[in-house]
Amino acid sequence: MLATVFDDEFHPLGASRQKTKGLYGAKAVLGRIQNTIEAALEDARVSPSKIAGLGFGCPGPLDLNRGIVLSSPNLGWHNVMLKRWLDKHLPFPSLVVNDVDAGTYGEYRFGAGRGARCLVGVFPGTGIGGACIYDGQLIRGTSMSAFEIGHLQVQPGGRLCGCGKSGCLETAASRLAIASDIAVAIYRGEAVIMRELAGTDLTSIKSAAIAEAIKKGDATVSAIVRNAARLLGVGVAAAVNLMAPDRVVLGGGLVEAMPKLYLEEVKRGMAPATLPTFMQDVHLVTAALGDNASALGAAALASESFGKRSRN
Ligand SMILES: [Zn+2]
Repeated sequence: MLATVFDDEFHPLGASRQKTKGLYGAKAVLGRIQNTIEAALEDARVSPSKIAGLGFGCPGPLDLNRGIVLSSPNLGWHNVMLKRWLDKHLPFPSLVVNDVDAGTYGEYRFGAGRGARCLVGVFPGTGIGGACIYDGQLIRGTSMSAFEIGHLQVQPGGRLCGCGKSGCLETAASRLAIASDIAVAIYRGEAVIMRELAGTDLTSIKSAAIAEAIKKGDATVSAIVRNAARLLGVGVAAAVNLMAPDRVVLGGGLVEAMPKLYLEEVKRGMAPATLPTFMQDVHLVTAALGDNASALGAAALASESFGKRSRN
């Protein structure tokens, strides 16, 4: 988790980063959230009384009106009253948004999505998040966050997903899916370069290590990642056929570590599944803001909601 303090012009003043450690339950994570926010304020040398508001990006789906995390399979959270907790523990107002909504909005305002009429964001990570900004507005449901592209069913009868269904896009193309395929390959005696870099522990098969193994010539790892990226393209195609966006931004750790591979293979996966006229019109780009996209987007959304002026 990353907390960043911005000034009125969205220049970063200070930040703090901590491991989420979702395994240890919501209470422990909430405690670390508070520590991370306080550490960021200290790093920025800004008093909490100067803060106009907090934008909080969290994996969803979420009840946006009440700030409840309805279900976040990869955190193991169900019906966590996040906004109520933030309001109780912090002296400024908070806005809870979906993390990929925030990241895509960040790219739309400050990064690779600037100027797009319709921007679709797809962020493969532990799961796969999606978002859509249309005419400057984040697309959302009446009360819930929308665009859960990671749960499009792409392989009927496929692997079981954290959401309880099977064959979802994220069971085939997320970092967790890629890491588990790599772990199986290592167990079989394949992916030798990767084994030397990371072993078979899923938590150490991270984006940077995966990219390094491919760079050093691990053909098995390359095939696994390229296959996953092509499948991601099938999911992107579904979004393009529905929304006819002028731009699609790919973000997250995997894309950041292997931008060229992702652009190539996602395009390859999209081409046969996208309406030809839409394929011609859509520009596929990689995110420009890295880790800062979600924090910037969440801050921008909060600033629209609470106003910019710092309170004295
Ligand atoms: Zn699912």
